[in-house]
Amino acid sequence: MAKKWNMIVDIERCDNCRNCFLATKDEHIGNEFPGYSAPQPDRGHSWVDIKRHERGAWPAVEAHFMPVMCNHCDDAPCMKAAKDGAITKRSDGIVVIDPVKSKGQKEIVDACPYGAIYWNEEEQVPQSWFFDAHLLDGGWDKTRVEQACPTNVFRSLKVEDKEMQRIAEEEDLEVLKPELDSRPRVYYKNMHLMTTCFVAGSVVVDVDGVEECAAGAEVVLMRDGRELARTQTDTFGDFRFDKLAGNSGGYRVEVNSESSGSASAAFDLTEESLHIGVLALSA
Ligand code: SF4
Ligand code: SF4
Repeated sequence: MAKKWNMIVDIERCDNCRNCFLATKDEHIGNEFPGYSAPQPDRGHSWVDIKRHERGAWPAVEAHFMPVMCNHCDDAPCMKAAKDGAITKRSDGIVVIDPVKSKGQKEIVDACPYGAIYWNEEEQVPQSWFFDAHLLDGGWDKTRVEQACPTNVFRSLKVEDKEMQRIAEEEDLEVLKPELDSRPRVYYKNMHLMTTCFVAGSVVVDVDGVEECAAGAEVVLMRDGRELARTQTDTFGDFRFDKLAGNSGGYRVEVNSESSGSASAAFDLTEESLHIGVLALSA
């Protein structure tokens, strides 16, 4: 079986520095690559678009960033909308919009369910991130986004599909909009940071009239009387459970410390992550 390109994007590593976005601009603005792409206009296009998602509320808030680009789908909706062979799927998995054949085909832009295609008004062509195929064909072993990223968010792999499936399972990778069955070749690691909620809290204990952080207390997350997960408070008495589905209803947290007693709290999880406050241990 032939080896094909795939891209793994680790959301946890992205700091929103936008180097990948700028590297793509640097590569394509004012530069034409015959057979691959017309020049990118100097405004309005985000072939690599950094999406932002905030979770939680004070005192537990975090922001995450997810680079989104063409997924190089194996069953690409854009190809079905394209006429005259304007979009091709190469044998190495890369989807390329032909800059000549696609002229005037603005309808291709709306055919992408990921919003990854941009209309170039000046050149009258639809455009997207084409996996730096012009560089790979020239002997590069990685894309410019990968080269430009200081935190190793991107990992491009040219492997057989069976091997990619093994890696996806092993590393718990996910694709965007799997329900479309468009079979993207861009995989995301730590997608839960964009799609699920966490619940956090703090535990304290009274020591001679002074409120101290309760480190090392056992914390259990319960639902309908059943244990879902278990953790321990850290040095600051904080705990956290992640990967909970939004709008999933009622939960209960039970805290126990052999030396300091117990505490518990019930809460409802809406679509937002939450900090359930400070729980005071008592005998
Ligand atoms: S992400 Fe959009 S542009 Fe890219 S292959 Fe899939 S449908 Fe086509
Ligand atoms: S270069 Fe890397 S860290 Fe910076 S925005 Fe892009 S993916 Fe994120």
